[in-house]
Amino acid sequence: MSNQDIVTRSDRHLMATYARAPVAFVRGDGARLWDADGKEYLDLFACLAVTNLGHAPRAVADAVSAQAGRLFHVSNLHYCEPQMRLAELLCAHSFADRVFLCNSGAEANEAAIKLARRFGHMNGGKRFEVVSALGSFHGRTLATLTATGQEKVRVGFQPLPGGFRYVPYDDLAALDRALTDTTAALLLEPILGEGGVIVPRPEYLAGARKLCSDRGILLVLDEIQVGMGRTGTLFAHEQAGIVPDVMTLAKALASGIPIGACLARADVAAAFTAGSHGSTFGGNAIATAAAARTLEIMTAPGFLADVRRRAAHFRAGLDRLAARSPRVKSVRGVGFIQGIVLDEPGAPIVAACLERGVLLNCTADTVLRLLPPLVITEPEIDRALAIIEEVLAT
Ligand SMILES: *Cc1c(COP(=O)(O)O)cnc(C)c1O
Repeated sequence: MSNQDIVTRSDRHLMATYARAPVAFVRGDGARLWDADGKEYLDLFACLAVTNLGHAPRAVADAVSAQAGRLFHVSNLHYCEPQMRLAELLCAHSFADRVFLCNSGAEANEAAIKLARRFGHMNGGKRFEVVSALGSFHGRTLATLTATGQEKVRVGFQPLPGGFRYVPYDDLAALDRALTDTTAALLLEPILGEGGVIVPRPEYLAGARKLCSDRGILLVLDEIQVGMGRTGTLFAHEQAGIVPDVMTLAKALASGIPIGACLARADVAAAFTAGSHGSTFGGNAIATAAAARTLEIMTAPGFLADVRRRAAHFRAGLDRLAARSPRVKSVRGVGFIQGIVLDEPGAPIVAACLERGVLLNCTADTVLRLLPPLVITEPEIDRALAIIEEVLAT
């Protein structure tokens, strides 16, 4: 089947919730992809920060097939070993003592919001509000789109759940005013991903941590996009020298098998008792086997140091590109999440790069967002950046 066949037949029956480019991928290897017409692409998108270990990584594929040969699924009324191993790994490599497993980012944030409310309910009952940032993105369920600080995701879905407030991002004075004795949690992305790759000033997360600690408010970090090695450390908040009370993960956690996780310190996690929350597929055996293997690879000695080294090469190349391209206003980001800020809509540039065999993305209208697989090689980086520079010169 050709790209065109797959596009035409898909568009006939799938709900039109996405603006898709007319390309169907059939195979991948590392940072390379092939479409149904046999054309090869260099990937600077990683399926939106999901395939951080590259496409179809052998070790994860082996873990998935080994588990699939034994058991696909075990109900949460019983136990299974891959779930145990993933929970142990997540807690060993983070601040957390306890994990709730689910199937997506929105579900992980939904769990965090419910956990914060229930924690408030069990500790005096006054705190229920969730404060989040303007420009943030937290998911598409009714609660998480309400937490999302972007009007466009809410159009037509009113009435929305109550108990949500917003603050400008990277503004500690505004946070100081917004966090009150009815606030249960502050929900923040360490870097705004969908919002345009906005990196806060170095003191912002530490300041937010202090305000939350002083006032008995939970700090919930949404690391769904920037966690799992994306910024060069396993979790982005490590670079701010702080720990949250709750953290959500999804996207790259299982290298492309659907999964979500809400992690918390023991005293906070205690607010979830038997029967208070759940998910049929949460902690699925195949998904947790894939996630456990992914974490073992990312935390192996030298893996993240090598990511940081190649990410520095990537950034240096981007800075040179920016210096030579008058249409580029600036470059911003950390590690392997970088944004090329333009003075014009980025969509035509994305389309022209796709035509030339380079996959990237545009967010917040004018920001080219680059999210390569963490395994991309230096020659692949150089080749992709040369093509972007050529496109920007035409
Ligand atoms: C993608 C994303 C989500 C939502 O994840 P889904 O798996 O699409 O529900 C939430 N928060 C952030 C920061 C994201 O990037």
